[in-house]
Amino acid sequence: MKMIDIIGKKKNGSSLTKSEIEFFINGYVNGKIPDYQVSALCMAIWFNGMNSSETADLTLCMAESGDMIDLSSIPGLKADKHSTGGVGDTTTLIIGPIVAACGGKVAKISGRGLGHTGGTLDKLESIPGLTIDLSMETFKNNVSMSGFSVAGQTANLVPADKLLYSLRDVTGTVDNLSLIASSIMSKKLASGSDIIVLDVKTGTGAFMQEPEQAKELAEQMVDIGNKSGRRTEALVTDMNEPLGNAVGNALEVKEAIDILKGEGISDWSFVRELEEFLDEGGYHYSEKLNQFKNLSISIDLLVLSCILSAKMLVLSKVFENYKEAFVEIEKVLSTDKALDKFAEMIKLQGGKPEVTVNTRLLPEAANIIPVKAERAGYISGINTCELGMSALLLGAGRTKKTDKIDPAVGFWMKKRIGDYTEKSEEIAGFHVNNKIYFNEAVSRFQNAVTITDKKPEDKKLIYYSIK
Ligand code: URA
Ligand code: CA
Repeated sequence: MKMIDIIGKKKNGSSLTKSEIEFFINGYVNGKIPDYQVSALCMAIWFNGMNSSETADLTLCMAESGDMIDLSSIPGLKADKHSTGGVGDTTTLIIGPIVAACGGKVAKISGRGLGHTGGTLDKLESIPGLTIDLSMETFKNNVSMSGFSVAGQTANLVPADKLLYSLRDVTGTVDNLSLIASSIMSKKLASGSDIIVLDVKTGTGAFMQEPEQAKELAEQMVDIGNKSGRRTEALVTDMNEPLGNAVGNALEVKEAIDILKGEGISDWSFVRELEEFLDEGGYHYSEKLNQFKNLSISIDLLVLSCILSAKMLVLSKVFENYKEAFVEIEKVLSTDKALDKFAEMIKLQGGKPEVTVNTRLLPEAANIIPVKAERAGYISGINTCELGMSALLLGAGRTKKTDKIDPAVGFWMKKRIGDYTEKSEEIAGFHVNNKIYFNEAVSRFQNAVTITDKKPEDKKLIYYSIK
């Protein structure tokens, strides 16, 4: 077999066989096939695409290029949740405790944030003492014992993806659905969970701006997961504004804790009714949730976390149906069982569990500076990617892998899309340490928020549900 023939085949629009895919992936990882030939093949794939069996073969071959984590020593089905990236997405820190408190198992291998999106590891590391550097032994023991653990990727998890992703990044071949799907799913398959629930984002803060495109990506990933023997489902969800109100590492941990505590929520019965979000097919932002509009936490973040948790619990066979799952989720939230689960997980990973009682033990910025509306009107649009860049300028994110982040900084949104603001009313509180880029961060934030006289249409939280 020769690489030049494989490139030629794809250039001419033919599909590749499993052995051709294995040849190029194994050859690339072993250093026998050079970057320039793999670049040419990626570009041919970009133009001519791959069918579903090519994509599944590529994914499995990539997954098997390094360690395949074996979670079989942990009793029961293990569930993983993956979000395709976004701003203010703290769902993992809410879902893990909920699912574990309901009797499920969440074994999460996670990555760091790059660019405008935050990584779960960075958020967790803002908790004093907590480490994500766990041996596989400890990681599995923690999941067996408490039902939820998060560990960082080991060096040898999917080496093929590390090489290929870096190459795609500099050859204009990142934005291809099959290549994105195989990249993400190879890491999920290697991470060893039986159940995979995908949260594919769409909107101004996502890879896929259009819901239809996000749906196609979600369908490809669900197909790969199921073809590889993992029960996989996906939701396509909104990223036209940050999911949570907090953006920044310690701030997002605080919002997750506030949600698990039910800060400002006296009646949890709405959780029981969330099944209709999955049933009616419309997935409209429900009128019923309007009562929660003025809380400091984001009800969108809470609702989506409950829905993703219910999916994981039903797929894990902890409950027979969504109705039962939501009843139990309501119970663990209203009784602080989920909050206690988070404290248990933090303690097992060397962190201070007291942060769940007093969030002021999290790192705090020296200054909190209000950012005010430039005019009166409705918040009608947010360039979410730009908001992420604003947080990055404050020090909450990184532009290159080696950048150090400041866990304390970021902002807390005081208004969401559809809310009315007076002129000069506070629309966000900026948590600031280093003021070098403060003015630039504020102006990017202001430019990213559109305020109009006309109230925007109600937005959707969930666009599609894919099985
Ligand atoms: N995230 C990944 O892990 N891979 C891609 O190709 C795109 C986003
Ligand atoms: Ca609110």
